[in-house]
Amino acid sequence: MTHRWSPTWTYLDGAWHEGNVPIMGVRTHASWLGTSVFDGARAFEGVTPDLDLHCARINRSAVAMGLKPAVSVEEWMALTEEGLKRFPADAALYIRPMYWAEYPGARTVDADAESTRWCLSLYEAAMPQPSHGTSITLSPFRRPTVECAVTDAKAGALYPNNARALVECHRRGFDNAALCDMLGNVAELATANVFMVKDGVALTPAANGTFLAGITRTRSIKLMRAAGIEVVETSLRWDDFRQADELFTTGNYSKVAPITRIEDRDLQPGPVFRRARELYWDFAHA
Ligand code: PMP
Repeated sequence: MTHRWSPTWTYLDGAWHEGNVPIMGVRTHASWLGTSVFDGARAFEGVTPDLDLHCARINRSAVAMGLKPAVSVEEWMALTEEGLKRFPADAALYIRPMYWAEYPGARTVDADAESTRWCLSLYEAAMPQPSHGTSITLSPFRRPTVECAVTDAKAGALYPNNARALVECHRRGFDNAALCDMLGNVAELATANVFMVKDGVALTPAANGTFLAGITRTRSIKLMRAAGIEVVETSLRWDDFRQADELFTTGNYSKVAPITRIEDRDLQPGPVFRRARELYWDFAHA
């Protein structure tokens, strides 16, 4: 089996390594029982917006997963600066800090928090172009509550649920899927947060602990409100989205991106989306 990895550099155990450096063994707790957390920030056009918030969130995710975060926000940021020098200045990169448990705890299924390890990977990943709008449908799968999964961490273990939602929606001809929470309110897409616009007002699902209320979501809400756009965080049903004037996503990977089809209805990228994207880029370059 071969896979062509894009240019990749990883800081692990005190040194930088090129390529897909191995980080786990067959007995590593995380490789078997899923005790890993990660975060995803970006470098693009020479900027790294909200890198500090992504570095703070990985440390919160570690605690939620029962791991011991050993790297301060300042250290994560300094290492990122170092890593960036290994790429062209304007490269589009994914910046991924990670923690995981190396050893099992006393009960095997639990992890030994003292054995927490970490790495920081940077790799080339092109920014998706906004000219390519996304199509979405409603997933039959749901977001778990915090009683059912570690939803208060950004953890790899949460993503197989998102992955099956993506596979299922792709089979039906859609790019992405909206997942509801267990009460039937729309929570998020499989890979990003979601906004709708009705009569000039931007609406997005209220953070309720079941989904990742993203850093890009929070940033975009702040920027839109400061620019005079009304933003409402509330409970929204799938029917609300189906009747929206505009739809768009926020997330680290694509930042602010348009949705151009919901079920069988085509949409154009609208003025609120365009303003939100422009505000984000202005902020990123400020
Ligand atoms: N929800 C999911 C499931 C995600 O994977 C992401 C991307 N990290 C987001 C939302 C957006 O979060 P953020 O803006 O913090 O990247």
